[in-house]
Amino acid sequence: MALVETAPRLTPADAARLAAELYGLDAAAVELPSERDQNFQLRDASGAQYVLKIANSQERRAVLELQNQALGWLAGRVPELAWPRLVASRAGREIEEGRHFVRLLTWVDGVCLAQVRPRSPRLLASLGRALALTDNALETFSHEAAQRVFHWDLQRYEMARPHLDLLPAERRALAEPLLDACGRLDWNGLRHSVIYGDANDYNVLVDAASTRVVSLLDFGDMVHSATVCDLAIALAYVMLGERDPIAAAAQVTAAYHRERPLTEAEIGALYPLARARLALSVCYAAWQKQAAPDNDYLNISNSPAWTLLERLSGMPKDWPGEVLERACRDGSTEEQLLAERRARVGPSLSLSYDRPLHITHGWKQHLYDAGGRAYLDCVNNVTHVGHGHPRVVEAAARQMARLNTNTRYLNEGLTEYAARLTSTLPEPLSVVYLVCSGSEANELALRLARAHTGRQDIVVVDAAYHGNTSTLIDISPYKFNGRGGRGQPPWVHMAPLPDVYRGRYGGADAGSRYAGHVAEAARKGVAAFICESAVGCGGQTILPAGFLREAFAAVRAAGGVCISDEVQTGFGRAGSDFWMFQTQGVAPDIVTMGKPIGNGHPMGAVVTTPEIAARFANGMEYFNTFGGNPVSCAVGLAVLDILRDERLQENALDVGGYLMDGLRELSGRHRLIGDVRGLGLFVGIELVRDLATREPAGDEATELVNRMKDRGILLSTDGPFHNVIKIKPPMVFSRADADLLVGQMAEALGEMERADGSG
Ligand code: PMP
Repeated sequence: MALVETAPRLTPADAARLAAELYGLDAAAVELPSERDQNFQLRDASGAQYVLKIANSQERRAVLELQNQALGWLAGRVPELAWPRLVASRAGREIEEGRHFVRLLTWVDGVCLAQVRPRSPRLLASLGRALALTDNALETFSHEAAQRVFHWDLQRYEMARPHLDLLPAERRALAEPLLDACGRLDWNGLRHSVIYGDANDYNVLVDAASTRVVSLLDFGDMVHSATVCDLAIALAYVMLGERDPIAAAAQVTAAYHRERPLTEAEIGALYPLARARLALSVCYAAWQKQAAPDNDYLNISNSPAWTLLERLSGMPKDWPGEVLERACRDGSTEEQLLAERRARVGPSLSLSYDRPLHITHGWKQHLYDAGGRAYLDCVNNVTHVGHGHPRVVEAAARQMARLNTNTRYLNEGLTEYAARLTSTLPEPLSVVYLVCSGSEANELALRLARAHTGRQDIVVVDAAYHGNTSTLIDISPYKFNGRGGRGQPPWVHMAPLPDVYRGRYGGADAGSRYAGHVAEAARKGVAAFICESAVGCGGQTILPAGFLREAFAAVRAAGGVCISDEVQTGFGRAGSDFWMFQTQGVAPDIVTMGKPIGNGHPMGAVVTTPEIAARFANGMEYFNTFGGNPVSCAVGLAVLDILRDERLQENALDVGGYLMDGLRELSGRHRLIGDVRGLGLFVGIELVRDLATREPAGDEATELVNRMKDRGILLSTDGPFHNVIKIKPPMVFSRADADLLVGQMAEALGEMERADGSG
């Protein structure tokens, strides 16, 4: 029979009567929430407070004696915490036995942990310490009644299994594997002792200032079990409702470990046990709900528990366990990593954010750090189909195990990939060169153009970036005019960045007028005009209508070729089209690809016309050791398959539009936002100090990006004035992610305005 069915059902008046009869107390009674017993808060005329505990008649008396003895034991050994004291009855008994078992305990002041939000690292550490002190003290405690078969004992996880049937199918699918995981633990390898066993957030009492745990309540779940279950149970409840549940769990664990070092086996068991506790909790809630449909206490953590279980199931599999393990290691990994990096990695490489992130895992549109925080990734456009996509991983691993060579053998993968890639492009773009990076692609594109035209000069737009090689730095104003740059070489011609917000032209004819500058340069006799189809490093600049059409026409008329750098913008990011140049109604002579093409696997590609390719084949071989190897082709193919199967271009169109609507709405309320622009999931927010003068707000953009990082959202800045917030997330970005981004940005901007006194 379920214990909840036999729970005592006294009224507060009954309780007050009992208190008077048994303890000589003249006190008012208020019922406290409880699962299978009844507890009443008593307050007498002098203000003294007590808890009157009425135990379930099904309970064994010995179990109550166990609890009483443990309380006394802890009071003597853990003075740092305030333990309730037993008050003897008028007859001198600690347990009164009638229709129920009755006990009276002194009241301990405090607030339930459940009611404390947010919880400081100090408070979480204090919980870990309180539990460790308790477990240390209980290590030498024993009582015959603790050796019981008890359904909340995690070691008895099988007792929950029959209740899985009460869960709807998708919830069962979440809970069942967590019980199974308990079966894979080496229980004999874990230390055992009597445990407190119920550090749920309603049983943990915190001081009024919310800085430390003052007491643990309710010893009704004491049992002899694996000691680590005490901490695991606490972690299960500490994670409820936290934005970063694993970080909170890690803080509790680190403090516990300092006071009571965990064994390797215990550390490994922690996370599976914490999740199993949540599974037990939802199973028993379903069961008890059947038995006692109106007991509200049973619902207290049921819905948060499901929410948490769902969130945990969306995290990378190994990450939480690794975070907990790291929390038990000494020293700061971040400081050490930073020092080692400074010592051995070239110093011209920068780190993002004021305080650099130590990211250890990625999954879909989220990144996960070493300390247990998850971040919404709004900026990594390389992991196009999502971090860690299993189909990409599988394709790479399978092909790597089978064959990885250079391209001087016949290979189906290469030809199949070349066919699939060119099928996304308009004719006559049908000849493929596979390389290893965006820079290699642009290098080769320049060589193709020069071989084809027999000319040297190149036209670029201001603020553009095309890659990291010597030649590409020379054609990248972003670099040659930036810090450390050596200026514009004589063979490079620079047209203004076609920026309708900050640039010299706006209005309907801006595209045409900007194209005029390209035409003027082209007439000097150039090999090529190279341009991104929306300018990334230049500040997420969307080209004005007609710009590429007129510019391409002028360049071709002058005998040059047109190169579209689609390294950042290609593969469906535009939403409306697969290639960003298509949004301008043009097709280039050469298109270069990189970043998203391999979802992070180092790949690049150049596609051109048969005519240009033929001219390039002048006898000198173009050989690229790694380019187009079978692994790269398998990966590239997987990316194209996923884009199609998961309809990610459509997603970019839908979510990108939705996001820009949200951001534009935001710009109406925050004066820092000067411009919101974008196509699909290629979006920029330009910050300005003054809406009229458009003075760039570079420092503010950096501050906003750092504040957003602290809120769990990753962004970056770019543009010539570093005042444009870049948004170019993995293409699995959802409307819910867009809502989160916009909502958090509103709050961060609000904070900045208040700090500035302008809000
Ligand atoms: N072109 C553009 C437009 C880029 O943004 C980049 C990289 N930021 C490159 C080329 C160079 O690509 P990679 O870093 O893969 O060499």
